[in-house]
Amino acid sequence: AENITPELPSTPLEVLSKVFGYDKFRDGQQAVIDAVVNGQDALVLLPTGGGKSLCYQIPALVRQGVAVVVSPLISLMQDQVEQLREVGVSAAYINSTQDQEQQQSVLARITSGNLQLLYVSPEKLLTPWLMSFLQAQTVALFAVDEAHCVSHWGHDFRQDYRALGLLKQRFPNIPVIGLTATADAATQADILVQLNLNDPFVYKGSFDRPNIRYRVMAKYKAFDQVRDYVKQQDGSGIIYCNSRAKVDDLHARLHREGISCAAYHAGMDADEREYVQRRFLNDQVDVVIATVAFGMGINKSNVRFVVHHDVPRSIENYYQETGRAGRDGLESEAMLLYDEKDAARVRQWIEQGEATDRLNVELQKFASMEAFAEAQTCRRQVLLNYFSQYSDTACGNCDICIDPPKLIDGLVIGQKILSCILRLEQQAGSQYLIDVLRGKALKRIMEAGHQNLSTYGIGKEKPDGYWHSMINQLIHKGLVRVDLTAGAMLRLNENARQVLKGEVALELAVPRLSFKPDTRVSKT
Ligand code: ADP
Ligand code: ZN
Repeated sequence: AENITPELPSTPLEVLSKVFGYDKFRDGQQAVIDAVVNGQDALVLLPTGGGKSLCYQIPALVRQGVAVVVSPLISLMQDQVEQLREVGVSAAYINSTQDQEQQQSVLARITSGNLQLLYVSPEKLLTPWLMSFLQAQTVALFAVDEAHCVSHWGHDFRQDYRALGLLKQRFPNIPVIGLTATADAATQADILVQLNLNDPFVYKGSFDRPNIRYRVMAKYKAFDQVRDYVKQQDGSGIIYCNSRAKVDDLHARLHREGISCAAYHAGMDADEREYVQRRFLNDQVDVVIATVAFGMGINKSNVRFVVHHDVPRSIENYYQETGRAGRDGLESEAMLLYDEKDAARVRQWIEQGEATDRLNVELQKFASMEAFAEAQTCRRQVLLNYFSQYSDTACGNCDICIDPPKLIDGLVIGQKILSCILRLEQQAGSQYLIDVLRGKALKRIMEAGHQNLSTYGIGKEKPDGYWHSMINQLIHKGLVRVDLTAGAMLRLNENARQVLKGEVALELAVPRLSFKPDTRVSKT
């Protein structure tokens, strides 16, 4: 059922219209396709939904031989092969779900020149027998999908991608094209090196996803915040947490609140995970609470919101995860719950977990994530700047643009907090500090005699969240630090002294404790 006969090579534009039914190329496609058709290596950075697949599928049909596509997930391969078959392209995959006979019959189609695209996992491709088999065939090109997986600097490094540099060694004259939706400058450079690309054509598309509204909320009572947020939303959403235990816990509690939800993490068996994914795709469950394991291959177009219950390790992670919202181009939202103490924990976790040669890069990546969360300027500008896409106009569709932070003279507020920390002998965490400031009649306060402190109850008139935000701002300004070696106790830094004495000015932002859906401004 081939539309394209090998004897009559078509032009890329003909293939675009005759096979795929589109009349014009999207930004970048034509240039990438021309380069690969001419045998040049390429690296393509296009956001999700940007049309990466055609960048290798069209050259696959224009060039002689079989195109080999490296894909990290079986479900992705199946989707792609099915879609290609629907438009009459001969495509197949080889993977571990098939028996020997099925694999042999795919190879037979290659030998007889009847296969245009072969999808394969990296570890399968690199098996010696398949490499030797392919060396005896005409190969049109190699495409490495989700190419950031090849880089240690990327957000989803995979060991079996590492050896893909071998392709260029064994097939020096066959073009290799890497494709990814998320790679910062360090990751991009590393992909070129790891894949051994030779004088590649690099195309970087815009990273902007204008229909996603970015918001950051100070995290102080995470469960209540998430519950209230989800109850205000229509449609599907994903809530990312940093641990499996958190996922299970949040799932159980949201479920009890009557929210249609399911959990997803790598600790569940494959069947269960697949069941959750299918129900989500079919709109049978509204919200999936997940770890980063819920990722690639989640091809659902109408995800309306992505919540980060915990701060991710890098902007690449954040961008990739929030990017699952709004693939259909409709208004969507990315909500990050941010807490300075979480950030301190992530930093500690990186410091303890990373090999020394990578520590600095990882810490820098996380510092950029923190800067995004703490930004007082347009979030989208911060995000795009991170991916070297400089923009000098504010977006109008993020929390900062919609509701700019209001700065006030915070000296007295700061003094209240700092002196209460001091009165508690720097032996309290932030919630206890707030309980004392607000004059709560808790048993543990009474037992410690802290109801007698001069700072007991001086913050009565404001809610917990207000104080959490103010404390976080003092941490952010370097006046207070979180001592993680001692149960997240708050300690004063040297410069807190000047604030306590009133020798310096202190500007603080009025906390955003809630967001008003009615203040949403549509960009278009
Ligand atoms: P990505 O892999 O970059 O996330 P896809 O390759 O899956 O994106 O493409 C996203 C959607 O856009 C697909 O439905 C695809 O058919 C469509 N598409 C790609 N290129 C074009 C084009 N030139 N004209 C119209 N639609 C296109
Ligand atoms: Zn903005």
